[in-house]
Amino acid sequence: MNFIDFNRPCIAGKEMDYIKDAIYDKKALCGNGFYTKKCTEHMEKNFGAKKALLTTSCTSALEMSAILLELGPGDEVIVPSFTFVSTANAIVLRGATPVFIDIRKDTLNIDETMIEKLITPKTKAIYAVHYAGIGAEMDAILRVAQNHNIYVVEDAAQGVDARYNGKYLGTIGHLGTYSFHETKNYTCGEGGALLVNDEKFIDRAEILLEKGTNRKKFMEGLVDKYTWVDVGSSYVLSELNAAYLYAQLESRDAILKKRLSIFNKYYAGLQSLQKNGKIQLPFIPPHCRSNGHMFYIICGTRDERSRLMKFLRDRNIQAVFHYVPLHSSPMGVKNGRSATLPVTEHITERLLRLPFFYYLTDTEQDYIIESVLSFYK
Ligand SMILES: *Cc1c(COP(=O)(O)O)cnc(C)c1O
Repeated sequence: MNFIDFNRPCIAGKEMDYIKDAIYDKKALCGNGFYTKKCTEHMEKNFGAKKALLTTSCTSALEMSAILLELGPGDEVIVPSFTFVSTANAIVLRGATPVFIDIRKDTLNIDETMIEKLITPKTKAIYAVHYAGIGAEMDAILRVAQNHNIYVVEDAAQGVDARYNGKYLGTIGHLGTYSFHETKNYTCGEGGALLVNDEKFIDRAEILLEKGTNRKKFMEGLVDKYTWVDVGSSYVLSELNAAYLYAQLESRDAILKKRLSIFNKYYAGLQSLQKNGKIQLPFIPPHCRSNGHMFYIICGTRDERSRLMKFLRDRNIQAVFHYVPLHSSPMGVKNGRSATLPVTEHITERLLRLPFFYYLTDTEQDYIIESVLSFYK
């Protein structure tokens, strides 16, 4: 078997046509042009976002969210330790304190039953991550937030096109963020989006996006000078990336269908190991619809994971793991607050992700499944 990468980016088909069109026909390469509008309209119409803004990454969108919530020194923000660094970095960049929370054993999402206990008079927001494109318990999270008058941001980097109780992830909290990084379901290399679901944040979000200027109002003819009115940064996505992304969004259904079939095939092929108690497989609550973002298994021990990883590597299969828990990382220790997080620590030592991408063939997937089964035989 040829080497099976962990990820290979999907090409939907029309990417080059749209990029050429942006260059030669639309003759506009900086952001907020024709293809940006196509992408944001697509997200607003199909996902139900009040306002979608394309950004250079999900990291940028998370940074914007922290500015919009006016996080600052003395503020506390509840965030899972089991996430990518960008979720917590956005909080620390504003001088606020991440308060790390544990995850549920089944979905590996924020444990909503533990939020209440972590809330203090300083708590300003909850950042919920939708791990593996499976929704965190948004109803419960929003209820606690409402009771304490705090904000909810959804890090839906992995959750584009997935749903919770019929609603698209990223459109449920006050703000939501998407990633279009090469490793995500729909991509343009590097890119992201900020979804503004609470209308009171829309105007300021558009200013932050444009480096703290009122360029948007100027372009619309609403003001006659364009000037520095707020903080901000260079968060606008280039039209070249937006053109690529639009081709992907147009093919959303086909990409989703293929990814769900890969997920289901892994699940069917490996569920005997779960029944035997050897490994744990992903769990999708009945009110959630996954987007087939990833497939992971939870091994029995850390050592078993290392041996399985090596076993697969020897068979030309690239399996990977993540995350190093943020609460025990050097930056987390220095800037955050945390109790012990037993589930996070248990999971991060045992989780292994299997190759997952649009072009994964049946033959390759059969070979991966058969390899995992034979490891456990
Ligand atoms: C990928 C990812 C990010 C970062 O996305 P970028 O677009 O690369 O900035 C943030 N949070 C989570 C949970 C992610 O998976």
